[in-house]
Amino acid sequence: MAVSAATTVAVVGAGIAGLAAAWELERAGVAVTLLESERRAGGVIVTERRDGFVVEGGPDGFLAAEPDLPALARELSIGDRLVDQLARGAAVWTGSRFEPLAEGSAAVLLGIELRGEDLGAGFRSFTGGMAVIVEALVTRLGPAMRTAAGVTGISPSARGYRVALTGGSAVDADGVILALPAFAAARLLATLGVSPARALGELVYQPSVTVSLAYRSDQIGEPLRGTGFVAAAAAPSVVRACTYASAKYPGRAPAGHVLLRGFLAPSDGELGALAHAELAPLLRITGAPLWARVFHWPRGLPRYEAHHAARVARVRERLARLAPIAIAGAGCDGVGVSACVRSGREAARLILRRMGGQTD
Ligand SMILES: Cc1cc2nc3c(=O)[nH]c(=O)nc-3n(C[C@H](O)[C@H](O)[C@H](O)COP(=O)(O)OP(=O)(O)OC[C@H]3O[C@@H](n4cnc5c(N)ncnc54)[C@H](O)[C@@H]3O)c2cc1C
Repeated sequence: MAVSAATTVAVVGAGIAGLAAAWELERAGVAVTLLESERRAGGVIVTERRDGFVVEGGPDGFLAAEPDLPALARELSIGDRLVDQLARGAAVWTGSRFEPLAEGSAAVLLGIELRGEDLGAGFRSFTGGMAVIVEALVTRLGPAMRTAAGVTGISPSARGYRVALTGGSAVDADGVILALPAFAAARLLATLGVSPARALGELVYQPSVTVSLAYRSDQIGEPLRGTGFVAAAAAPSVVRACTYASAKYPGRAPAGHVLLRGFLAPSDGELGALAHAELAPLLRITGAPLWARVFHWPRGLPRYEAHHAARVARVRERLARLAPIAIAGAGCDGVGVSACVRSGREAARLILRRMGGQTD
């Protein structure tokens, strides 16, 4: 079957992996429908802009050594919105003092696996935050993007697949890409009878809570050195790490202000007040924060086990026997934003190959 504009691929999940997959297909001239259950695209990429602050709920950057985001940004004509990390280095809070920490340890604490050679170049982001890349993709995809369109099941059809949506409607497609968290992909693949997907569905996602706190610069007595600190395992704190967001990237706080972001161990109570109370003595903060914003990720980052790659490979072997269908995203090929872009685009190229089209 030749790939033509009449060929439709349904991409399920509009996190960065699904957006990248849809973009790759659109560039190849394939009609795409991108189906997202939430009212907004981006998945765990959430940027809020408030009183001149840029507040990240999920990722705040990507590894500068990986070319995927810059390449995508250039294709979308937003290459000029990439920004480099300003500060370098981090500290560890021992419980009584700050000590220098090896580069990248804060990310490792978050569960992002990093290779030493990737760390040398540091991290990058976008002016206006990580949602800049999401917004650019949503704009370019136009009506192909459908929000509040959760997929409830997939069944084989004469054409390829019938994708059932919440509310009872359906989308017919020649091919499907599932760019979903592993537990959601596994559920849908079960409706297609792909039994190895059950093991993939057991992938554990770690909960994560972040608290962003805004201050005037004159409230912070301690010089903010580097990108932030992590608390030593022995330190009895709820705040496990803190990023000095406004020192790490440009434009995160208006002049004369500071934005901090704490990563909290699962806890109850008023988390903004709790984070401030713990940070105040460490950073010699006087007075209350101007505001606090808490983001809860009950299922944040997946934590791969030893057999993860083999499990993903077994699912893909099974999918190769069906009409064109692929899986992508943080549940499959790496949890970093760059890896998710790569994974989405590779899934799109696989579908194009299977539908008989050309890929570059
Ligand atoms: C707090 C936090 C901080 C992070 N920090 C960094 C960082 O600094 N750098 C970095 O590189 N990475 C970071 N990561 C990791 C990275 O952001 C994610 O792994 C990546 O963005 C995941 O993208 P994704 O598209 O695979 O999945 P998701 O973003 O989870 O997207 C999946 C989408 O599928 C949708 N969906 C689910 N079920 C259905 C359904 N049935 N039908 C339709 N749609 C559905 C969801 O609503 C969601 O929009 C961080 C992650 C978290 C949580």
